[in-house]
Amino acid sequence: MVDSQIETRGVKEQRILAAMRKVPRHVFVPENVKRYAYQDEPLIIGEGQTISQPYIVAYMSEALQLKGHERVLEVGTGSGYQAVILAEIVKEVFTVELVESLSVRAQEVIKELGYQNIHFKVGDGTFGWEAHAPYDAIMVTAAPAKVPKSLQEQLKIGGKMMIPVGAAFQELVLLTREKKKFKRKKLLPVRFVPLISTH
Ligand code: SAH
Repeated sequence: MVDSQIETRGVKEQRILAAMRKVPRHVFVPENVKRYAYQDEPLIIGEGQTISQPYIVAYMSEALQLKGHERVLEVGTGSGYQAVILAEIVKEVFTVELVESLSVRAQEVIKELGYQNIHFKVGDGTFGWEAHAPYDAIMVTAAPAKVPKSLQEQLKIGGKMMIPVGAAFQELVLLTREKKKFKRKKLLPVRFVPLISTH
């Protein structure tokens, strides 16, 4: 998977490639799709939700330019796979999921794998996770129509946020928080499930 789908498409960061070689993707997906776990596609994980395509996980992780000391917020725990890739390369991961059953399942899988640096919350990630803010980086894995204000506020100055934005047409956006404003860079057209708003 890493050789043929990720490295060849230009992901270079060695720590990400190593994490993706190490973490078994099949343990994060339901029984009926396990045999597709290392293919170049997103997969269904139940509750109408998906685990992202492996290349997109690698691409988004690399774009955040993480060094290892960071505390990172993820919105949309889903299967827990992206949280584990992050946990391999940073200090602490805080992940929020709206659908309780998905969070519970991810917590079970991750406990089994033995990670201690991932913290879970069930709730609407549109509002981030205030208690542990500010974060060095934020990874959003469901698409809102526009970047939620709370997430911007919970990012440190100098920090980066990776977020798919849009509805029918979505783009991956990389935001960098500067002293007084946010620098915005459009990266790729993508298709994520929508970020569900609870208000
Ligand atoms: N990162 C996941 C993929 C997530 S798919 C993985 O590696 O498997 C997007 C997830 O976002 C879904 O699980 C969906 O339930 C969740 N989601 C949607 N709206 C949300 C919201 N407002 N707050 C938190 N999670 C949300």
